[in-house]
Amino acid sequence: MIYPDELLAWYATEQRDLPWRRPGVSAWQILVSEFMLQQTPVARVEPIWLEWIARWPTPSATAAASAADVLRAWGKLGYPRRAKRLHECATVIALEHSDAVPKDVDTLLSLPGVGTYTARAVACFAYRQRVPVVDTNVRRVVARAVHGRADAASPTARDLDDVAALLPGDSSAPQFSVALMELGATVCTARAPRCGSCPLRHCAWRSQGFPASSCPPRRTQRYAGTDRQVRGRLLDVLRGNSFPVNRVELDVAWTTDTAQRDRALDSLLVDGLVEQTADGRFALCGEGDDAGPQGPRRSRADNTEGDDAGPHGPRRSSHSPGERR
Ligand code: SF4
Repeated sequence: MIYPDELLAWYATEQRDLPWRRPGVSAWQILVSEFMLQQTPVARVEPIWLEWIARWPTPSATAAASAADVLRAWGKLGYPRRAKRLHECATVIALEHSDAVPKDVDTLLSLPGVGTYTARAVACFAYRQRVPVVDTNVRRVVARAVHGRADAASPTARDLDDVAALLPGDSSAPQFSVALMELGATVCTARAPRCGSCPLRHCAWRSQGFPASSCPPRRTQRYAGTDRQVRGRLLDVLRGNSFPVNRVELDVAWTTDTAQRDRALDSLLVDGLVEQTADGRFALCGEGDDAGPQGPRRSRADNTEGDDAGPHGPRRSSHSPGERR
């Protein structure tokens, strides 16, 4: 059991001042924050989010921007497919929902890039609905405080029921949800829970003497040397150019492992983040219509077998186009 009163009282005084929680922030702007926060820490998201909503405060404003400009504005947040999906999401909301973020979870789930967590986060944080919002932090707090386990098991559909059962029955439910998430983010952290500062009087894991985890040790995600890093380097080159670049300009961005570089470029093409021109040069997505003096560009998706893609030939990939986060 997690008692709402003690959690809400703690949140009232200890919550972080995050810009997307302030009064006057629209549902769209909250949705943007949730896209950005999915895999990126708050400190890196905050400045980008502030610039983003000042530049594109509404879905229609975002939809009117070019996909390439959206990718540029995404900057170093990582996992840039999110930027592409956010742009697609803005377009659908602008065209099909009168520029207003839908309120109900099922409609939210139909939007590009919106999954179980994001749909409920928007319904809860933007529209104050009593729906369970379950992220990694919430799952960890519930695993410890309610179930007496050191770590949450792999996510299942039951997690939603678990958290729904904890929600207060009154209008404080949305605040309870954000407070639970905040507790996991700032106090009940994965590696070093600060139990001495925890507002919960009852915690099953603590009362059982902190039994060891039965989950396999968590692997630290490295970045250096990964395909993600190589993709980032290649995108950096294209972000800095408003015209297509020759292959050699991408090649110098990563010389350590040429096969890895080819694989990374291939995956960017498959993801639709990068396009290849008919003459074999490369550009950010959406910048393929006007290639200047060397003619129009084509996206990877438009390539067909036998195309003359210039001196490097048409690109082919073994990556699944359907692969998504
Ligand atoms: S007492 Fe410790 S382990 Fe339990 S919920 Fe609080 S911070 Fe987490």
